[in-house]
Amino acid sequence: MKIKTADFVISNSDVAKCPKERLAEYAFIGRSNVGKSSLINMLTGQNKLAKTSGRPGKTQLINHFKINNNWFLVDLPGYGYAKVSKSVKKTFQSFIKNYFLQREQLICTFVLIDCRHEPQKIDMEFMEFLGENEIPFSIIFTKSDKIKLSELNRNIKNYSKKMTQTLWEEMPKYFITSATSSDGKEELLTYIDEINQQ
Ligand code: GDP
Repeated sequence: MKIKTADFVISNSDVAKCPKERLAEYAFIGRSNVGKSSLINMLTGQNKLAKTSGRPGKTQLINHFKINNNWFLVDLPGYGYAKVSKSVKKTFQSFIKNYFLQREQLICTFVLIDCRHEPQKIDMEFMEFLGENEIPFSIIFTKSDKIKLSELNRNIKNYSKKMTQTLWEEMPKYFITSATSSDGKEELLTYIDEINQQ
């Protein structure tokens, strides 16, 4: 699939105010600084659609973008940024949980993980929340240009091991991307396209 149009629609912190249009929806979420904005810009071919951050934790809203007049790409707030106050964290958690639990047109959530890191508690907990609530998700290992292939494979193996020790019988579907080289772009967009055609 080629993304021809990517239009900002609305930002808010209330799932009730998300677009009423019943288009298929794909959400992107991960720790602050994981490379989410860079990935969204790479996928859509627009440099400034999602703001890349010098200031992690700033985008605290649910952002809807309409793609090819056909589906919504949803940019969700980054989680796990230490400098956000406790009350902000709590509000974040409740509205983000409401989004996942109430948004019926959400087809798939992409959980972004920096491929350089060992499995982190906050990511595992978030995926467990999705799993327990039967919310479909895939993993995207970001910034693949930053490490050697052998390291990348080892880190993914560690994730796979960790996940199969907890809720999952097998490693969920995953993608490997780089916003720098555009690796993984075609595969990811083809995956979304195939689901949309079903
Ligand atoms: P966000 O907070 O998750 O939206 O992360 P950003 O997209 O703002 O990226 C955080 C930092 O990582 C920025 O300095 C980006 O330039 C850098 N970055 C993001 N993706 C990649 C990537 O695929 N490769 C490399 N080398 N750097 C990346």
